[in-house]
Amino acid sequence: TLQDRLASVFKGLRSKGRLTEADVDSSMREIRIALLEADVNLGVVKEFIAAVKERLVGLEISKALNPTQQIVKIVNEELIAILGGETRRIRFAKQPPTVIMLAGLQGAGKTTLAGKLGRWLRSQNYSPLLVAADLQRPNAVNQLQIVGERAGVHVFAPEPGNGVGDPIQVARDSITHARNKLYDVVIVDTAGRLGIDEELMRQAADIKAAVNPHETLFIVDAMIGQDAVNTAKAFDEGVGVDGVVLTKLDGDARGGAALSIARVLGKPIMFASNGEKLEDFDLFHPDRMASRILGMGDVLTLIEQAEKTFDAEQSREAAEKLLGGKNKFGLNDFLGQMRQLRKMGPLSKIIGMLPGAGQFKDAINEIDEREIDRIEAIICSMTPKERDDVSILNGSRRARIAKGAGVEVSAVNNLVNRFVDARKMMESMAGGGMPGMPGMPGM
Ligand code: GDP
Ligand code: MG
Repeated sequence: TLQDRLASVFKGLRSKGRLTEADVDSSMREIRIALLEADVNLGVVKEFIAAVKERLVGLEISKALNPTQQIVKIVNEELIAILGGETRRIRFAKQPPTVIMLAGLQGAGKTTLAGKLGRWLRSQNYSPLLVAADLQRPNAVNQLQIVGERAGVHVFAPEPGNGVGDPIQVARDSITHARNKLYDVVIVDTAGRLGIDEELMRQAADIKAAVNPHETLFIVDAMIGQDAVNTAKAFDEGVGVDGVVLTKLDGDARGGAALSIARVLGKPIMFASNGEKLEDFDLFHPDRMASRILGMGDVLTLIEQAEKTFDAEQSREAAEKLLGGKNKFGLNDFLGQMRQLRKMGPLSKIIGMLPGAGQFKDAINEIDEREIDRIEAIICSMTPKERDDVSILNGSRRARIAKGAGVEVSAVNNLVNRFVDARKMMESMAGGGMPGMPGMPGM
């Protein structure tokens, strides 16, 4: 994947103390190939590489303190710029209702997104209304109704039995309905086709003219790659688009399409969908996407989540132990951190957000929650003194612990060895290896 390739470029750079011009050139070449292979639009790739190179020329690489860090920083900043810079939020109307129209190809995820948006808005105390203006497929109205029910959001649909309704009329009526019933956001779901066609464009444009939306969002399946650029262009010309929503980012094709669309259209990506469930949805954060693409993991998301879950005091204490005296970080601290970590969710998901974790994908998949239970059991079978200082664990102590935890002695040995190794690694990281991960020494 793109992430893996970029991660290996940066890994190669990191292992060099000093960078030559040739190093920089070959890295740029590799980055270029990686982007192209990830289906990023050629024009966007060229622009990106040119921007990075221009800034690199201005850098005095040979004298720089840490040239690799600087290159990573520049690549990251240019990537963020290309992804749109800052997160663009919905512009709400001064006079409600705010009207949001969803447009895009069939299967892009419009109807699903209507539910996600509705649920999200509701959680922020808005009172949204979903509108079934896709009357093309027999099941479309019903699908929106199911989605609306799951999201706890009302759906405005044509009366059943009136034959094939007119989606433009339905859309127009929905605005009146929203005014009368005091809904403050109207989300208009529209029909899609498998390919771009005239009739679809005209219908979407007519619906747009009828409801005069504050935001017209173009929904695009991130997995369709390069094609997405042309489709997006056609919609922008035919209907007019204010923002882009990427769906199915949970698939493999992360990044490529996102990079291209934002830049080619000059329109911001506003939301990202990454799953079939209603909660698999968030504002699009260019900076987080960039660090994800660069293989640095979604450190920000992780930190945010950690801040919510971690006991700050306990984490600070553990961090002080790690940074301070030798060997003071014991198994008991480890256990505390591990328990906090588990509160954040399934380990495989958390580790997936860590920097460089893409390289350990296979190992991550093998993480077995039961193994963690076993570790807890072993630590719990130790005396407080043993937990504080693993160096006192002689053979008879280890045998006693194994018995208490119901495991083989080898499992105890294994844990102790791994803990000692991990602590060494953490101590070296605390020495400046990993920036921006405060309060997470237990990892
Ligand atoms: P529409 O034709 O544009 O209205 O698309 P739908 O909302 O009906 O979605 C088409 C299919 O894609 C459905 O099976 C959805 O469950 C699925 N889908 C939508 N968004 C996502 C997403 O972010 N991730 C995944 N994996 N599937 C999605
Ligand atoms: Mg639909």
